[in-house]
Amino acid sequence: MTTATPKKNIVIIGGSCVAIAAALEAKKTLPATHRIIIIEKHSHFHYMFAFPRACVIDGWENELFVPYTKLYDSPDKGQVIQALATNITKTHVELDRPVEGFGTSVEYEYLIYATGARHPEPGNLNDHDTKTGAIQRLKEMQANIQKATKVLLIGGGAVGLELAVEIREHFPDKEVTLVHSRDRYMPSYKYGMHEKTVEILNEFGVREIRSDRVVVPEGGFVNDFKMIKVSTRDGKEIEADLQILCTGMTPQSDLLGKLSPQSINPANRLVKTKPTLQIADDAFPNIFTAGDVADLEDVKTGGAAWQEGILCMKNICKLISNPKATLATHTPMAPQIFLYFGVARGVAQLKIFKLFVITSTFILKRFFSYNILAGRAWDWLGTPLSKETADK
Ligand SMILES: Cc1cc2nc3c(=O)[nH]c(=O)nc-3n(C[C@H](O)[C@H](O)[C@H](O)COP(=O)(O)OP(=O)(O)OC[C@H]3O[C@@H](n4cnc5c(N)ncnc54)[C@H](O)[C@@H]3O)c2cc1C
Repeated sequence: MTTATPKKNIVIIGGSCVAIAAALEAKKTLPATHRIIIIEKHSHFHYMFAFPRACVIDGWENELFVPYTKLYDSPDKGQVIQALATNITKTHVELDRPVEGFGTSVEYEYLIYATGARHPEPGNLNDHDTKTGAIQRLKEMQANIQKATKVLLIGGGAVGLELAVEIREHFPDKEVTLVHSRDRYMPSYKYGMHEKTVEILNEFGVREIRSDRVVVPEGGFVNDFKMIKVSTRDGKEIEADLQILCTGMTPQSDLLGKLSPQSINPANRLVKTKPTLQIADDAFPNIFTAGDVADLEDVKTGGAAWQEGILCMKNICKLISNPKATLATHTPMAPQIFLYFGVARGVAQLKIFKLFVITSTFILKRFFSYNILAGRAWDWLGTPLSKETADK
């Protein structure tokens, strides 16, 4: 009788866009000697592309949290472990809880560090680990918006812009003010994105203040629905009974920084990488990084994270078959984005032959759906979306 050699692990910390892309790539290319272990603190994948709308419209939140249970048909090929990774050693990732088959640590031969970034809620629901808890938080936000009469949105990135229009479209009686620190929206994209966005904000009656900053009180705003006057740095005053922060992201790089301080860029806390997406630390050629936590030129989008995740996995497969292989290198992705402005408007920068900006409802309408195409995430994870599966 022969005993099967235990499989070696490729561990991915963070179960979002990078991990899903890498896992799907692995299904095509990973040799049978290895398996994928994804460590993710949430019970379900968060489809945050639709969170701005789900903060306003209720009844479909369950479609935005997708179970990981069917990503693999056998634990021998891969598994998603629900746990928080608390430490990384040269050989293991330590967990905050015991997990069947592993105990409190998972050995790795290769590691992909894909912990992404934190955004203020409701941009992401990082601290809500169960589906019920995350849905509850979205419902609280819906109730807050319903109750408010004058909403102040702080930050005119994609989340602030989409949320502003969603609120005005569904509650035209509510006043919405959007304060943006720059003169231009979406500065990583073509100027046309900005111009068309301004047109749509005007059309929906969103009050804009640009090139100015809200003075956020120490400890943040108290959500007690009292009408208060909020000041801006330039001395303007805005009346609002609900204030929502839609400001920037904080890379979650501290965990890796403990093992490899030299791979963290002190200026922005992102993880420095080599062109091969190995971390910029020669002591760890078996650790890769990608997505929102990685210090790459790409604009931080799910699409870029996806491409980078695939490259990490391709390079790992090359190293498995030949440790001296020449690895493929990363080419930054042309910046592309789709901003959903209410249920039937949008502005997109797309690259088909060249980069162009478009608002034509006729051309974009095939991308419109009430759940911002959440069904595709269910397909990625092997559980097609239906009335029955949505509650799993
Ligand atoms: C509201 C919103 C809307 C967006 N809309 C779009 C869009 O329409 N199109 C688009 O292309 N992009 C969009 N983006 C950007 C896109 O979501 C991100 O670029 C993408 O999710 C980055 O993927 P990632 O895998 O790098 O990390 P993330 O999505 O940030 O995920 C990181 C994961 O790691 C987990 N994690 C972190 N630390 C640990 C740990 N120690 N242990 C275990 N798990 C851990 C987290 O729980 C999380 O699930 C949007 C972002 C937001 C916030």
